Amino acid sequence: MTVNKPPREAISRNNMELLTNCLGVIWKDFVALIYPQRCIGCTTPLVKHEQYLCTRCFLNLPFFESPYCQNQKLSVYFSFLPKVSSVKAYLVLNKKGLTESILYGLKYHGNKELALLMGKHFGASLTSKGVLKADYLIPIPLHPDKEQKRGFNQSREIAKGLSEKLGIPINDEVIIRTKEEQVQSKQDKVTRWHNQGGVYTGVNVDALIGKSVILVDDVITTGATMVAVCELIGPKVSEITILALATGK
Ligand SMILES: [Zn+2]
Repeated sequence: MTVNKPPREAISRNNMELLTNCLGVIWKDFVALIYPQRCIGCTTPLVKHEQYLCTRCFLNLPFFESPYCQNQKLSVYFSFLPKVSSVKAYLVLNKKGLTESILYGLKYHGNKELALLMGKHFGASLTSKGVLKADYLIPIPLHPDKEQKRGFNQSREIAKGLSEKLGIPINDEVIIRTKEEQVQSKQDKVTRWHNQGGVYTGVNVDALIGKSVILVDDVITTGATMVAVCELIGPKVSEITILALATGK
């Protein structure tokens, strides 16, 4: 019986790959030893398998405790939109609290992986409390110029994490943001509401006819963004669930 031996070049190529991987891991551990990643909450060095937050800070995050992350205040707030069946939020947004540090990290420190990670945690928390079903997850889009500047859309990264845990596909080809964002912090509530008119445009909203969708955003502040998107897709879809990583209590 003859045994086909792998060619000598293939063996040396495999060995080289193995060696490169090992060196990569050693180098990463070495760098982590000299410059340890620090917790964004308490700044203590993170240990292996911790990302962005140490275990203590993660467990002390201000989670919404009501069943299924259901946010009663927001559910009432959006109740005038007939297709909105529920509003769920993961973290309570407090001034100068840890949730604010997380959101700031997503928006201004380019922490793309943090957005994905928080999406996964949110998704895991939702699946542990029951099954959330929908045809699509739709992340709220950024204006293309802003997305290019930031390098990513934090809501899409959160949606990716949610998608992994909920098993619901992302559809980010139906809405685009056509108006640049104004500096919201300098506007009062009424001005913010007025500025939402015509901010979003449907591209292929007919693809949503009869579908149940989950809208995903990093934070709900005035709710004007969500209302604008709900009004845009509402006439097409059968049901809307709103998920936000954070909102005020
Ligand atoms: Zn910490």
